[in-house]
Formats: sequence, structure tokens, C-alpha cells
Amino acid sequence: MPKVDTEPHRTALSLIPKVHALLEMRESLLLADRYGRRAVTDAIRAELDGLRKAILANGHGGAIPTAQDLLSGVGRRLAEQGLSRLTRVINATGILLHTNMGRAPLAEEAVNAVVDVARGYSNLEIDLLTGKRGARGGDTEELLKKLTGAEAVLVVNNNAAGVLLALTTIAKGAKVLISRGELVEIGGSFRVPDVIAQSGAELVEVGTTNKTHLADYARAISGETRVILKVHPSNYRIVGFTSDVGVRELSGLAAEHELILMNDLGSGALVDLSRWGLPHEPTVGEALAAGADIVTVSGDKLLGGPQCGLILGKTELIRRMGANPLFRALRAGKMALSALAATLLLYLDEDHLAEKLPVLAMLAQSQESLLLRARRLRARLARIEGITAAIEDGEGFAGGGSLPEAVLPTKRVKVRVEGVSPDQAAGRLRRGSPPIVGMVADDSFVLDMRTVRDWEVAEIAAALARLSP
Ligand SMILES: *Cc1c(COP(=O)(O)O)cnc(C)c1O
Repeated sequence: MPKVDTEPHRTALSLIPKVHALLEMRESLLLADRYGRRAVTDAIRAELDGLRKAILANGHGGAIPTAQDLLSGVGRRLAEQGLSRLTRVINATGILLHTNMGRAPLAEEAVNAVVDVARGYSNLEIDLLTGKRGARGGDTEELLKKLTGAEAVLVVNNNAAGVLLALTTIAKGAKVLISRGELVEIGGSFRVPDVIAQSGAELVEVGTTNKTHLADYARAISGETRVILKVHPSNYRIVGFTSDVGVRELSGLAAEHELILMNDLGSGALVDLSRWGLPHEPTVGEALAAGADIVTVSGDKLLGGPQCGLILGKTELIRRMGANPLFRALRAGKMALSALAATLLLYLDEDHLAEKLPVLAMLAQSQESLLLRARRLRARLARIEGITAAIEDGEGFAGGGSLPEAVLPTKRVKVRVEGVSPDQAAGRLRRGSPPIVGMVADDSFVLDMRTVRDWEVAEIAAALARLSP
């Protein structure tokens, strides 16, 4: 009988790291935060079992994977199970209000407010002055009235909910006039014609795709018309031979015929952004001052707050919306309301807003500060063997259907990792801790500095270092 040489096996097996040693590594701690310690322990055991079986099967006495490699396999195993909590992601796409990445990062003040309210009880619906039942969300509505000049306000789960609740309440069974140029789709599932149909109203298209005049609206009015709806085209622009009718002109027509003028602004600008060198977006206050009876916006677009929708306008109309049973199904929760109010408090001090509100700070970043961040990343990467990094100019967008015309010049860092394709790099970075989402272009992994926070530069360099052989 031939003698089997078990020596190489034994040597290889004895080199396999111990479960508890792997569990104590930084990557494991990060994974445990996301998947729970129990799941990480199980995944490490499974990974090591796999390795043991492979050694015994092909008798390799060769290289044992490094602890980093093993934990990368553990990370992949856990990701495949799909049992993680929602987790922070480093956004290196440069798209500031990325709907798939949670839109606006909150101000520190808003984060603290959420933590405070989430941990315990709150005055969600108690008036602390009188001890009686109070307005939902404490002073949130008062803050919004002060900041926009609105007579009344309602906060709902998102702007889609706001538009639906508003139209269901004021237009059900009646006709809604809207310009053909504004029958837009905003992000996949929000299509203006569908929302109007869902609300039980009947859509009447006015004008043409590129041009709509006041006379077109006037001609379309009948005894069944109740609402004129003006929609901000958000992620879409008709350029060239175009014209549309402003809120002020429409408000005259609406008043003459006793119609309600509703303006779905979407973007959520509360202040004039041109102050920070950005394109002007119509603000809620301007739309109301120009005569809109109802304005709807998103809380997590240019407003820079949590996901929510704001309905602002005439007291009587807002009161009816609040009394609609649908409101109960669409209202915002305590965490969104606390983050919203904390964000609004920052707006009371406009001079310091750009320092406090991440969305505005990131939008208003100078080329110098973007370049500085790019250089800091490149300097860290220069010390890693097998990595080459270069800085290049780029063009970015706000995203989330906001500031569609504004091309934001930006700085990007292009990275190549020896022996790792850009697609492989993108995949491994996405599955890492924290996950990094960037772009693949020019045979490189590309990171846009506009949406990378200063404290994330070191995390990115460390993640890339783990990729290099
Ligand atoms: C974004 C947007 C919506 C949808 O808002 P959500 O907050 O995403 O629900 C509706 N209308 C307009 C004009 C928008 O820009």
C-alpha cells in the first residue's frame, strides 16, 4: 500500500487562523455592527471549514490565504445571506441627492435630534405649555410657516404623498388642468398623469410640449375644472423654442374663475441659492407670494432634511387635507419630524446655513477645496504599492431631480490597482466595510470628491490598500 504523505496537510492546516483571532480584527468588528456578532462568527467558521476542506481535497501545502482575504470571503458570505441592517455608504459618485443612496445627508443638529427622540419619548402630540393634545410634530409647522410665509402646513411621508393627498382632497371627481410640457415622470414610479388618475381627478392637457400660453389654459376651463396644476419639471428641461406660464399669471386666471392653483415644486428650496453662487431655484416662499394656493415639496432634496413631503398654503385647503382619512396613512413619523424641525432651525440663521447644512455645503464647495481633498486622497494612495492615482476635472450634477441645468465642475481621483480590474475593484469596495460606491471609467475606478466627506478620505485609502496585492 502506498504511503500517503500527510505532512503538507498538517502544516497547512496548522497555519489556518483561529476563529477568535479573526473575530477580533477590525473588519470583523465592522461586519458585526452590520450583521450581528453571531452571524459573523458563523460565517468565519464556514469560511475556515471551506478552507480546511480545500486543503484536504487537493493536498496543497502551499499558500494559506491571508486573514484579510479570509475576511473578505466572510464579508461576501454575509452579503449573500442578505440579512444586514441598512448601512452607511461612502458616496463617491458626486451625485449629491442620490435617491438610491438616501438623498440628503442630515446636519449634525438633525442627527442629534433624531437620536434624542428615537431613544425615548417625545412631545410628538403633546402641547407642553398646556399639557393637552397638541399639533403633531411640535413646532415643526410653526417653523415652516415662519420660513415660507405659508398660512398653514402639513407634513407627510414624502412629496409623492403630498401631491396625492392634495389632489385627492381638492380635485377628486373634478378636472385638473396641466401643461403638456409638465406631464413628467420623476424617478421611475412618480408620473404626474398616474398620480392625477390615482387621486380620482381627471387630467386635462393644455398647450403643447414646448409651448403653453395663458390663453391655452383659459380656453380649457369648463364648469368641471377645479384645479390648475403647475409642476416643476425637475430632472428634465425643454430647451429652444419654448414658453410656459408663470405662477403669477396663472394665479390671476385661477382667481378669475375661482380655481385652486397648485404648484408642485419638488426641489424643496427654502432660500435663494444664488447667494451661494448656485442657480436660482424657485423657493416655496416665492411660489406662495406669486399666488399659488398650494405648494408641495420634498424635504430631502434641496431643503437638505429627512425624507418627507411638505404641503403648504391656504388654511382652509390644508385643513381639509388634514381631515382626509388618507392623511393618517401618509403622515410623517417622529424621527422624520424631529430631523425636519432641527433642519428648519438652521434656516433661521441663513448666514451660517452653508456651514451647517451638508447639502448646501457640498453644493457650494469651491474648486480649491475639492482639489485639496483630491490631493489628500492621492497623497495617501501614493504610499500604497501597486496603486496609481491621478486627479482629473469632471462635471457633476445635484441629482434627485434638483438643479437639472446646473453642471457642477468637480475634481475626481482616478485609481488603478495592479492585478485588479476596475470592475473587480468596484465590486469589492461596494461589499466592503464601509461600502464605497464610485464609478468605473477609462479603465479606472473613479471617485468624485464632491460627495466624499473629509473624514472618509482615510477610510477610502484604507479600503484601496486592502485591494492591492
Ligand atoms: C421629486 C419630486 C417628486 C417626488 O417627491 P418624493 O419626495 O421623491 O416623493 C414630485 N414632484 C416633483 C416636481 C419632484 O421633483
